[in-house]
Amino acid sequence: MKKPIKLQWKLLIYLVTFMFGILALLWVFQIGLLQPLYEYNKVSVAKETAANIEKVINNEDISDYIASLSEQNDLCALVITDSQMINTNVTGCMINRLPYDKLVEYYSLAKENGGSYLSKSELVEMSFNPNAPDESFVSKYKGDKNIVYTKVVEDESGLVSIILVNTRVTRVNAATQTLSDQLFMIGCIIFIATVILVLFLTKKIVKPIVKIKEATNNLAGGKYENVSKKDDYLEIYELNKTLEYAATQIQKADKAKRDLIANVSHDLRTPLTMITGYGEMMLDLPDEKTDENIKVIVAESKRLNLIVNDLLDLSRLNENKIELHKENFNLTECIQDVLKTYESYSRQEEFHIQFDFNRPIMIYADKKRIAQVLHNFIDNAINYSNQNKRIEIRQILKDNLIRIEIQDFGQGIETNQIELIWDRYYKVDKEHNRVSQGSGIGLAIVKEVLELHQFNYGVKSKINEGSIFYFEMPVLESE
Ligand code: ADP
Repeated sequence: MKKPIKLQWKLLIYLVTFMFGILALLWVFQIGLLQPLYEYNKVSVAKETAANIEKVINNEDISDYIASLSEQNDLCALVITDSQMINTNVTGCMINRLPYDKLVEYYSLAKENGGSYLSKSELVEMSFNPNAPDESFVSKYKGDKNIVYTKVVEDESGLVSIILVNTRVTRVNAATQTLSDQLFMIGCIIFIATVILVLFLTKKIVKPIVKIKEATNNLAGGKYENVSKKDDYLEIYELNKTLEYAATQIQKADKAKRDLIANVSHDLRTPLTMITGYGEMMLDLPDEKTDENIKVIVAESKRLNLIVNDLLDLSRLNENKIELHKENFNLTECIQDVLKTYESYSRQEEFHIQFDFNRPIMIYADKKRIAQVLHNFIDNAINYSNQNKRIEIRQILKDNLIRIEIQDFGQGIETNQIELIWDRYYKVDKEHNRVSQGSGIGLAIVKEVLELHQFNYGVKSKINEGSIFYFEMPVLESE
């Protein structure tokens, strides 16, 4: 795998490439193409001037026209007709210094070439006037390129005229040199600016990320110290917040795991101690092999089974692995069936459980799970009733909703605990001194089951007066 590169180096490479790309583009347009474009422009103007002169070649004021055109476009022209020879008298006009045979040569080349001919040459090569070139003229325009555009015009009567337009392309070396120097300086400035920018970005982006990375080393252990500063970017700030949140969640999960192990082992140990205790006693003392003792072992084994089943249930509910098997069933009958299982217990313990209902109600839900919910609520009502051994169960029909209430008159729950009792293994009484069976995760299971059904549920409670646990579901039909 390719080794990841440090962000600041990447930034530097990208920015430098980008800046120098722009500089290269500037160089091509400003320097590389300057001379050719300038020359192309000059040639175009010369051709255009020749075409304009052609249009007025027979006019009387042609010489004025040529003079103004030449001045306008910074060039000179020579027009030779059968009757006259008109030229612009401008200094630096090489065309006026050309020997006769050169003119003839241009003429013949133009004729050969279909009527026009473009000559580009160094001034020195062209200063071959037998009268000897003017030295000062040559030295002044040395190095410039001379362009002579020759056009041969023939009118209807067969009269031939020659138009010669001469322009000079000055060397732009000096200008390009200046531009090159400028671009070099700009390049240096840009490079320094890029390095400064990268250093700045590194400070603003990379450093906080490195700090966060260091701070996350202990994240797996639920530790994260917020390293964001006031002037950090929002994203960095938010990343810090998210990591902080993750750390607290990890801590919570860790604590929940530890609590769970502690509680589960406690809950499992009690029946296990009873089973081994009674078993050993029966082995050692043959007289103790009584039905009563065997019943204790069976009861404790059942309790163990219940705890393990509850735990499995909850973990499957938490992972959404449980599917509801919904059906239409008679809720009132279901409650009555659940209550039957408490009959002998109520008789023994002198518990009074009362069920109030008007008429049987049908609902659409998972019957087994609703029975499980009822069992959990009733178990709790019994467990936390203390001496007040009375439980009331009500079936209340309101509009299209049926509400089941399970009320006890026992110890009640403090207001600040009400939200927490639905959490896994939360206990108001930390001492865990319950006498009856139960896994200690009853309400967490109730919560998962009712939420899976999307049924409304809750509790109203007053300390030392008792609690009312309730849940509501839509009525399918009432019989
Ligand atoms: P447990 O096995 O401890 O009853 P639950 O999940 O069923 O576990 O209940 C969680 C906690 O809620 C209980 O430990 C108890 O403190 C409180 N609780 C539940 N039902 C009642 C009730 N009817 N009266 C008072 N407290 C209750």
